[in-house]
Amino acid sequence: MQFVDLHCHSTASDGTLPPSEVVALALRNGLSALALTDHDTIGGVREAADAAKAAGIDFLPGIEISCDVPKPATMHLLGYGVDPHSPILLDLTNRLIEGRNDRNPRIIHRLNELGVKITLEELEAQANGGVIGRPHIAAILLRKGYVSSIKNAFDKYLAPGGSAYFDKERVSPKQAIEMVRQSGGLPVLAHPSQLRTENDAQLERTIKDLADLGLAGIEVIHSDNNDAMVEKYSKLADKYGLLKTGGSDFHGTNKKDIYLGTANGRRIPREFFDALLDRLSAGRAIPAGS
Ligand code: AMP
Ligand code: ZN
Ligand code: FE
Ligand code: FE
Repeated sequence: MQFVDLHCHSTASDGTLPPSEVVALALRNGLSALALTDHDTIGGVREAADAAKAAGIDFLPGIEISCDVPKPATMHLLGYGVDPHSPILLDLTNRLIEGRNDRNPRIIHRLNELGVKITLEELEAQANGGVIGRPHIAAILLRKGYVSSIKNAFDKYLAPGGSAYFDKERVSPKQAIEMVRQSGGLPVLAHPSQLRTENDAQLERTIKDLADLGLAGIEVIHSDNNDAMVEKYSKLADKYGLLKTGGSDFHGTNKKDIYLGTANGRRIPREFFDALLDRLSAGRAIPAGS
């Protein structure tokens, strides 16, 4: 049996390992394939692809996009096999990163008003060229002793309801699905439990609506999911003709209890990766004359 991880973050966004070290860890953890899915960027994909090639691990470029949905829901869309040179993808990532650049100073300013000493320069240094996310701020607050844990930083300051929470620019689920498709990728609903639907009927309606918009798959295995959830999401995927995917959502030491290649005690079967590859090559036009 071979295993993979199709959801993880590097220093290109809010993970703590550089892309090549995520690949090295995948090798040590016995994985045969990996997809890197940093928030709002494919900036780590080149390095990871090169490292994967050298290590003999199969690799798919990926991205994770936060969509605009009514609170308290969160909807993240994974895009697998996107073309790193797609102008549509670059447009999208630039826009999302601009939105973050608009949010970050507001969070810093509010934290300063609350007596927390933190500067934008420190935040930029913490992200070290990667896409800046709240876990970077949390890491600084933890290091400086303002909070007792990353989770405590979110609860107290950074999550909705926290005293320094600001939302960021998002795209609608429809736009995100279309843009991933137009960039040559397969749009997959990440961690469906974060949709926080009230019951199974509402979850199914949401999945059906997303499938009608062009969703290609559901992340059935994830660190948030217990066995019953994995089964429920798998049934929905089968019912609506969607691919099943899985990943740990590894972030390095920004999420201490998550290990690359393991999602709440489960490993992720290789067949999930192969099914994505099959669907990607089936969707690609064969150039004339080839
Ligand atoms: P951002 O990109 O700034 O919206 O931050 C998103 C990141 O923050 C993701 O990696 C989330 O898993 C993480 N995150 C969101 N809420 C929490 C929370 N309450 N505790 C810990 N991490 C969180
Ligand atoms: Zn993250
Ligand atoms: Fe996510
Ligand atoms: Fe993630």
